[in-house]
Order: sequence, then C-alpha cells, then structure tokens
Amino acid sequence: MSVTQKIAIVGAGPMAIYTAKGLLHGDVPIELTIFDATDQIGCGMPYRAGMNADYMYCNAFSREIPSITQPLVSWLHDQDDAFLTAWDLAREDIDARDFYPRVLLGEYMKSEFNQLCEAGRNVGHILRILPNHNVVDVIPTESAIQVDVLTPDGRSSFPFDQVVLATGHDWPASPNLGQADLVSPWPYTNITDLPAGQIGVLGSSLSAIDVIVALGKEHGTFIEEGEKVSWFSNPEREALSITMVSHKGIMPEPDFYYPYPYERLKHVNPEAISAEMEKGTDELLERVFALLLSELNDAAPEYMENLGPDAQSIDGFSEAYFRHRETVGGLRALRETLTAAIKSKEDKETQHHRYALLRGHENFEMIQEHLSDEDWKTFNEKLMPVFGDCYAAIPHISVRRVLALYDAGVLQIIPTGPDSSFKNNGSGGVLVKTIDGEIEFEALIDARGQAAAVLSELPFPNLVSRLADPKDDLVQPFKLDLSTQTTGAVYCLSMPQVLQRHPFSQGLPNCDELGRVVSKDILERIEVGASG
Ligand SMILES: Cc1cc2nc3c(=O)[nH]c(=O)nc-3n(C[C@H](O)[C@H](O)[C@H](O)COP(=O)(O)OP(=O)(O)OC[C@H]3O[C@@H](n4cnc5c(N)ncnc54)[C@H](O)[C@@H]3O)c2cc1C
Repeated sequence: MSVTQKIAIVGAGPMAIYTAKGLLHGDVPIELTIFDATDQIGCGMPYRAGMNADYMYCNAFSREIPSITQPLVSWLHDQDDAFLTAWDLAREDIDARDFYPRVLLGEYMKSEFNQLCEAGRNVGHILRILPNHNVVDVIPTESAIQVDVLTPDGRSSFPFDQVVLATGHDWPASPNLGQADLVSPWPYTNITDLPAGQIGVLGSSLSAIDVIVALGKEHGTFIEEGEKVSWFSNPEREALSITMVSHKGIMPEPDFYYPYPYERLKHVNPEAISAEMEKGTDELLERVFALLLSELNDAAPEYMENLGPDAQSIDGFSEAYFRHRETVGGLRALRETLTAAIKSKEDKETQHHRYALLRGHENFEMIQEHLSDEDWKTFNEKLMPVFGDCYAAIPHISVRRVLALYDAGVLQIIPTGPDSSFKNNGSGGVLVKTIDGEIEFEALIDARGQAAAVLSELPFPNLVSRLADPKDDLVQPFKLDLSTQTTGAVYCLSMPQVLQRHPFSQGLPNCDELGRVVSKDILERIEVGASG
C-alpha cells in the first residue's frame, strides 16, 4: 500500500499506549489519531488522579510494569527531588521490586506517552492526539471506517482505514444488585463522602481493599512505625464500622517473593500446552489441568499432600484450595498468610505452590478460546475463582492497613454463602442476607471489579448493528467480524469485551501483550495490502 494508512485508537489508556507503541515501532509510516473522552491522555482510569486516591497501590511491582520508552524505575530516577519528596520517596529507596501508588504510575504513563509520540514523530509518523473527544459511533463503510466524535466544537466524523477500540473500564454510575442500590467506588470521593457509620463493602479482593483503606484514611489515621501499622479513629468518627461481604468471606494472599525474570515452569509451559492442543479439544481442560497438577505435585508436594487426595481433580482442587482460609476466617487467615509472605520475601524463597499457580494459570490463556462449552463452564465455575484469587496478590502495605482496621475493631468480613440476597431497606440503606443472618448497612459499596460484557454491549450502535454475529466471543487478533463489506478493519480491545473470553487479561502486562497482538496484525495487513 503506497498511501499512508490512517489508524485510530479510541481511548488513551494503557491499552492504547501499548498498542500505539507496537504501531509506532513498525517500519511503515502511519497516520495515527488517538481520541480520549477526557482531558487526561495516557493514564487511563485506574491511574488517574481524582478518580483514584494517591494511597491506592498498583499490585504489580515496578519491574513487572511493561516499559513504554523506559522502565518505571529509570523514569523515577530522572525525576527531581521535589517530585520525589512530594511522593514521599527517597531516591536511594527506588527499587525495581517495589510497589508504587497507581496515581504515580499515571504520571509515569502520561509522561512516557508524550515521549513515545515524540519518538514516533521523529521517525516520520504523523500523530494527532485529541483529548476531550468522545467517540459516539463507529460506522464501517465500503471504503473506510467512519468514527463519529463529540468534539469540544460539536459533532464531527473522521474516516480511517483501521480502528482500534481501547475504551477500557465501564462502570455504572449507580450500580445495583438484586433489589439493592449500591454505591459506586469511582471516583473515590464517593467512598470518602460517606458519613462514618455501618458501611458494607461488596467484595473482598483488590477493589475492596482500596475501598477499606479509603474509609480508614477518611475517618481516622494510620500510624506506620516500621512494619507495624495501627489505626486510630478521628474524633466524632467512632461510628465507623466496615463489613466486607463476599461469597466465601476470604481475601487473596499478600504478595510473595518469586524469581524475576520468571523461571520456566517444568510441566504447565507453552510447549506442553501446545502439544495438548494439537491432540484436539476433547477433554482439553482436563488434560491441561493435569499438567498444572504435575507442576504442583512436583514443586509443592507438601502443600498438595495437605490439600488431600480430592485435590487431584478439578472439582476437588478448587474446594481444597480455599478450605483452610474459609475455616480460619477471612481476616485471621490474612494475618497468617502475611506472616508466610513476609518470610518468603525476607528469605528470597518463593512459595512454590503459589508460583506454580500464578505462572501456570497464565498459560491457560492459550486454551481459553478453544474450550468446548462444557469445559468453558467448568473453567468458569471451578478454576476461575482459584486463578482470580492467586492472581490478586496484595501489596504488604495494603494488607497491614487492612489488618490495622481489623485490630482496631472496625472491620470484619462475613460470607454470604450461596443463598445471598440484597434489597433496599426503605430508608436509604441496604439489607444483605449472609450466613450470619440479615445485616443492615447505611450504604453498600460495590467493590466487585470490572464485569465482562458481550460485543453487543459496545456503546457504538452502528458498529453493533454491523457485527456478523453479536454473540461472537472476541478471539485473537481481536478483529471484529463485520457484515458490511469494507476495506477497513475494527479491532476491539475494550476491557469488558476482552474479559468475556480472556478473564485474566486486565493487568498492565496483558495490555502490553494484547497491544502487541493487535499492532502486529495491523502492520501485517498494511504490509500485504490486505483488504477486508
Ligand atoms: C481499580 C483498578 C485497579 C487496577 N489496578 C491494577 C494494578 O494494580 N495492576 C495492574 O496491572 N492492573 C490493574 N488494573 C487493571 C487495569 O485494567 C489496566 O491496568 C488498565 O487500566 C486497562 O487499560 P485500558 O486502556 O484498557 O482502560 P482504561 O484505563 O479504562 O482507559 C480507557 C480510556 O478510554 C477512554 N474512553 C472510553 N470511552 C471512550 C470513548 N467513547 N471515546 C473516547 N475515549 C474513551 C477513557 O476516558 C480512558 O481514558 C486495575 C483496574 C482497576 C479497575
């Protein structure tokens, strides 16, 4: 193709940055336009000040955050003393294994996005970065993909050859569940504006921890002396009482030590999984799970023995995996797991079962698009909770703050069990049925995290009406199958739609990986001059 290809990315969060990185590193000169509905270019929703408080931490340590033009630690070292002091950072303490606040990461991403664009322009690409441009529709036509945008000056249409949707998180402003109205945790001031009282938090994973810490900061003070963290209520805020309610009433485990760069797994590695895939899709999940079991039995025999013989099957494993924490109780178990995680970090000795699960579950990504309906159901019901739990390792500072609230007697966690129900109490609060009976909250904050959504829920009516099959799952390379004959292409990396079939693809390393897949496909299409 001799004419410069016009490419658009809708959204300017991490997914857009890593996709742009792939495109701009290609040999073909392109004309790239990036739209964002907000005035914040380059940081996305979880890393944006105002949406998030500066005490909310990223759960990936700095070296795990994929570099944009330079790694996070190098960028931090380049900042002046005033900047570091404002973030309570000493230059000598900057460490590739440390966890940093998400809003600080947002600063890194914004600055790096500018660097990336400058580097792109320097090698001959044309870039247009358009903040405050809300894309309201995407219309495939025979000769182009038309993008309709609400700009600060009114509605406009732009034609492109290829469009990547990277619209990210989608949260209802007023969430509900059953017959209950919940409070959205975004922006975080929705949480901190609540008066101290009986506050419920729906969920007990990473989003719930953000909520709890925000309530603690708003209504009291965390005193941090070395590793010890205590919490004291502010005057007249003594009424604060926080209850997490979740299905099992347990929390994920604290971050632990593991080798980085990662060490290759012996059994559940990409080559072994590819070999299983070549044998066909019959019982594929069972066969790949057998590889995971071999990994666990080999690397952590004592752990597997403690889980008991039932853990040698998918059904039994998922029950056995949670049993100890369910028996000990959510917050007591959190303290116990913190002790083990601290030891792992001090001794630089990994927790073998956790490493096998953390790295092993990522390789299940290879089979997710190929599972039969029955296997997919089993995966969602049995393995998803385990993998979601092992993926959500909590930074120790957040664990200590949660435990400080527990020690101060203002935090508890109660399982709802399978028969939960939620309804408004008629006076602005919510009634929740748990295994301990009905509990009444003055407000219930929704901390369940991002829900998956089907393609037909994309907020672009003309695009949805031209999907070949709106029930299709998104499969690699994330190019939409359209009923309109067009020379253009639309790729979808919007988070809720990606999560439908790729439920663990929402961390920053995944944004990098998915961005590479899409940018590679686009560049290949340009190179072969493909149409349609
Ligand atoms: C609370 C929270 C905490 C998280 N913490 C971590 C973490 O610690 N570590 C980790 O690795 N991952 C974390 N994640 C995962 C996170 O999903 C990704 O890191 C990342 O934010 C996904 O990037 P994105 O660009 O897809 O979406 P987003 O960050 O949501 O960005 C999407 C962008 O698109 C723009 N946009 C949306 N619609 C339109 C439109 N119609 N027109 C124009 N622009 C539009 C939005 O304004 C936004 O800027 C967290 C997620 C959440 C929700």
